[in-house]
Amino acid sequence: MHIHVIGAGVAGLSFALAVTAAGYQNVLVSEEHSRVGIPKHCTGLVSETTVQAWGSIARNCVVRKFREYVVRDMRGQNVIHLELLEPVYLLDRVKLEEELADAVLSAGGIIKFRHKVRVIHPHHNILIDHKGNHIEYDIAVVCEGAPRVLARSLSLYSKPRNLVGIQQLISLDKSPETVIVYADRRISRNFFGWCVPFTDKIALIGTADRHGSSACAGVLRILHVLEREGYRVRGILERFGGLIPIDSPHGLVADNNVLFFGDAASLVKPLTGGGLYAISRVFRALTGILKHTDPEELPHTFMAEVSMFKRKFKFHNIIRSVLVALGGYETALKVLSATGVHSVKIRKYDDLLTSMKLSFR
Ligand SMILES: Cc1cc2nc3c(=O)[nH]c(=O)nc-3n(C[C@H](O)[C@H](O)[C@H](O)COP(=O)(O)OP(=O)(O)OC[C@H]3O[C@@H](n4cnc5c(N)ncnc54)[C@H](O)[C@@H]3O)c2cc1C
Repeated sequence: MHIHVIGAGVAGLSFALAVTAAGYQNVLVSEEHSRVGIPKHCTGLVSETTVQAWGSIARNCVVRKFREYVVRDMRGQNVIHLELLEPVYLLDRVKLEEELADAVLSAGGIIKFRHKVRVIHPHHNILIDHKGNHIEYDIAVVCEGAPRVLARSLSLYSKPRNLVGIQQLISLDKSPETVIVYADRRISRNFFGWCVPFTDKIALIGTADRHGSSACAGVLRILHVLEREGYRVRGILERFGGLIPIDSPHGLVADNNVLFFGDAASLVKPLTGGGLYAISRVFRALTGILKHTDPEELPHTFMAEVSMFKRKFKFHNIIRSVLVALGGYETALKVLSATGVHSVKIRKYDDLLTSMKLSFR
């Protein structure tokens, strides 16, 4: 069976690794870039559950771990501490893709770089690449990320809805001690801003919003807040960003032989934009199941694993829309502060809503 994976991001590589490790021999990953890990877009904050799902591959990429987040507005008038009962890990995202790619190659998969898939014909089981070559497949797995060009060409989305995430890696005289989340409409009306300390002198700041220009303005405001509060920003080391899907996960399969995974399927936690959780969990589940599954059943097995996340994320998406309609994350922060909440214990980082316990002053 020829499995053709489109996109060597975390989703494509995880899928390719799950199937090659299960003994599938004809697995090809097409990646339009010359190597994995580019362009950079992700912050790399993930739960313990996510790290466990990828096992040593993710553990090798841990930069640091956090036990607390501070959620605040720009002026620091409303501040809530999130106590993370399971640690949150900062992963080196480029390294994660490199480790996954190495594992795919060691397990016998093939990654073809500078190879862009332009068209999929699901009824003929044929892909067409950027050179016009026709390639037959039995199952195509579209892991093209948030732009969803192929998904649109197959009418799975008329117009994908995304936020634009902008980040800057900055050098400072000293970094904040832990992750700061800015819930403030002046930073983003539709999301939140963040400052993630990488080292004691390097931090990643960023935000996401409906338009790139407002996200850029939000990042500038975070810089100003840091400077106003006594941090000396010495320079901007790197700027990068990308799209965060905010529509509900879609049907995933066209004619049973084209699967969609990762951002291509909008499999992203709606409240935080985290996409690595669902990818890692589906990877782990498939690794356990596929060895004992008839290859013909692969699409159904995949769908079954994904459907739990689809349901959950659809629900969280509704909550996110209500939150944004009510004034965004800032409103939630103000309401909690006004009712005397000063800290929130989070049992499961991937399930913020159902696992939080509020502590009042
Ligand atoms: C600013 C920002 C911060 C984020 N922070 C976090 C975070 O802290 N934690 C978290 O869990 N998630 C985070 N995410 C989300 C996370 O980055 C994504 O969910 C994850 O990277 C999705 O992986 P993917 O493989 O589906 O897509 P991608 O990583 O986008 O990979 C898609 C790959 O497909 C290739 N490709 C596309 N089209 C073609 C084609 N036609 N032919 C061949 N190759 C193709 C691309 O070159 C790319 O390599 C963040 C996202 C953004 C934008």
